[in-house]
Amino acid sequence: MAKENKDNIMVFFDFDNTITTTDVIDDMLARFSKDDEWKALEERWQREEIGSRECLKGQIEGIRIDKDKLDEYLSTISIDPYFKRLLKLFKSRGIPALIVSDNFDYMVRSVLKSNDITDIEVYCNRTDLSGDKLNPSFPYANKKCGDCANCKKTHLLAKKRDGVSTVYIGDGRSDVCASRVSDVVFAKDYLKELFKKEGRPHIAIDSLKDVYEHYVRRL
Ligand SMILES: [Mg+2]
Repeated sequence: MAKENKDNIMVFFDFDNTITTTDVIDDMLARFSKDDEWKALEERWQREEIGSRECLKGQIEGIRIDKDKLDEYLSTISIDPYFKRLLKLFKSRGIPALIVSDNFDYMVRSVLKSNDITDIEVYCNRTDLSGDKLNPSFPYANKKCGDCANCKKTHLLAKKRDGVSTVYIGDGRSDVCASRVSDVVFAKDYLKELFKKEGRPHIAIDSLKDVYEHYVRRL
């Protein structure tokens, strides 16, 4: 593992089930989809017949929820209490931290705002609301790279500077490519199991408390 100190790291956080304590998109699909088409899309994606962008686009377009209901729902989402502690720690040491997410701007910003977090860079997918429909768009898809919705690896490589170690904290399939090019990986759930199976170096975590405890002693 690369040697870490406060002068040479930058930190990338996944959002769903890393910062939040549940996967918000998965939960929204189960609660608010107009029918079961989202499950069929999920199965096609897991069989690798379609990419995650096509899957997510179809799934989000199948949600029916108006703005009031969505706002009410988003106000119930809780975040890992150690996220704010980590941000405070990184800020006090001058360490850049940002979010790369396969969720959508409206949802991510709303959850962050209700937790009084307004000053962090976020790279995610976008969605407009019209009536009870969500119209997704994917400004950070990288068609040269693959079929992901938001190409997290592109952000990581674009932000990385010479001599700086990238730290990635995530849990899911959309974190795999970015994690594979990161210097230090904190992995939870699916990502942890995959890295374990592939014999890739990582720090296994159950929550952001483990990340906080790792850094509070080192930085
Ligand atoms: Mg996630």
